[in-house]
Amino acid sequence: MINYTDELRRHNLKATPQRLAISNALHSCGHINIDTLYELMLKKFASISLATIYKNVHLMLENSYIQEVKIPQSKTVYELTKTYHSHLVCTKCGEVEDIKLNMKPILSEVNSNSSFEISKTDVVLSGTCKNCQ
Ligand SMILES: [Zn+2]
Ligand SMILES: [Zn+2]
Repeated sequence: MINYTDELRRHNLKATPQRLAISNALHSCGHINIDTLYELMLKKFASISLATIYKNVHLMLENSYIQEVKIPQSKTVYELTKTYHSHLVCTKCGEVEDIKLNMKPILSEVNSNSSFEISKTDVVLSGTCKNCQ
């Protein structure tokens, strides 16, 4: 288990046992939705409420300790903050994978074909993962 105490403090978050457990869950699962996170947390903290999980997740998001990935037609997942990357989502099992994509060609194409100013470049591509093919 990685010690996330310093990481939490670096994001101005007190390292409570719940937050450390959330950190470890995110680390081992990579991407996790709130319901799965809740299930995992219940195994460690029998009396924890969904509201407490939401509160912690919200605060962690606010302090950029974690980031959310909005999945079309599915639940939002959360991950520990990493450098910019895109996502691949399996439509059969819901598996979410990270992928580094070069956005420069896309942005320059947008630039030459439209006068739109891009502020966010979140990319989620759907398909079938290796296990589900
Ligand atoms: Zn799959
Ligand atoms: Zn990711």
